[in-house]
Amino acid sequence: MENNIELKIWGTRGSVPCGSAEFMKFGGDTSSYTLQIGDVLRFLDAGTGITRASQKLTPEINRAYLNLSHGHADHLNMGCAGSMYFNNLENGIYITGNENAKNSLDKFFDGKDLWPVPLSQLGGLNKSFHLLEGGETVQYSDSEMQTLANYHPPKGMGGSIGYRFNIPTADGNVSVVYTTDMEFDYTPGGIVQPKSAEMKSAYVDFIRGADILLADTQNTNEEYNVTTKFVRGFGHPTVEQIVDLANEADVKTIIGTHHSPSHNDELMSSLETHVRDYATGEGFRGDFVYARDGMTISLGNTPLKRAGSYELAA
Ligand SMILES: [Zn+2]
Ligand SMILES: [Zn+2]
Repeated sequence: MENNIELKIWGTRGSVPCGSAEFMKFGGDTSSYTLQIGDVLRFLDAGTGITRASQKLTPEINRAYLNLSHGHADHLNMGCAGSMYFNNLENGIYITGNENAKNSLDKFFDGKDLWPVPLSQLGGLNKSFHLLEGGETVQYSDSEMQTLANYHPPKGMGGSIGYRFNIPTADGNVSVVYTTDMEFDYTPGGIVQPKSAEMKSAYVDFIRGADILLADTQNTNEEYNVTTKFVRGFGHPTVEQIVDLANEADVKTIIGTHHSPSHNDELMSSLETHVRDYATGEGFRGDFVYARDGMTISLGNTPLKRAGSYELAA
């Protein structure tokens, strides 16, 4: 049990939390996931689901990371998560993210206007921030972490960071990719993205052969191209695009997330059927599922911890 590799879904909603009953099945909390690899716990983003996700910080966890995609409020609303203030980890939770994530942490925990406690008093966090631009490969004892700069406004390229964890196990490599808040076809103002083709190509390379692709699928093609075209340039892809790119990359399972606040459970269920039909029609041989609150994905039980320190090279 303590050696399990497990991905768990705690917050699926994009943009704002949706707390009412019609969102409970697919989830109302914003972006929050945990990836446990033996005694290492990785928080993927810190949206409002982080409060419940902190349950995973059990005594068997010896090292924890918070891997932030970027610093927008729906990914960094962790004011009330007690584990960020204190925990039993020797060095606290290590944080990685882009410059925007670092700035948001500094601003949010300002000790006055936005939150009463300043960052300096969050004893549960390690104060060294591992700044990422995308394109890095970092070797940890539990996994190899690769990163990708994605396009997300207002910064544009590098506005969000995608993560890929290649986890060595006794039965071979397990790979889990998390990419959210990225857009390929348009820029703010509905202007066509001139680098769309090369961005898609880089994305396909990044997700190639992944066992799990946990990806932003906020819009549908119909919304993006017909009914709500104004969302072009808001920084999110369509679910059909993600299926197409995952198909090209031979991904095994897509877990669509960052659900639109306008998609209630009834609509999500019918969209899921639509996406599966679309995927089958396109010849996708993997699985597609929309992330549901509390969903747990077991990815094996024999991670190979490499000898030495937790972080082997920066
Ligand atoms: Zn977001
Ligand atoms: Zn965002």
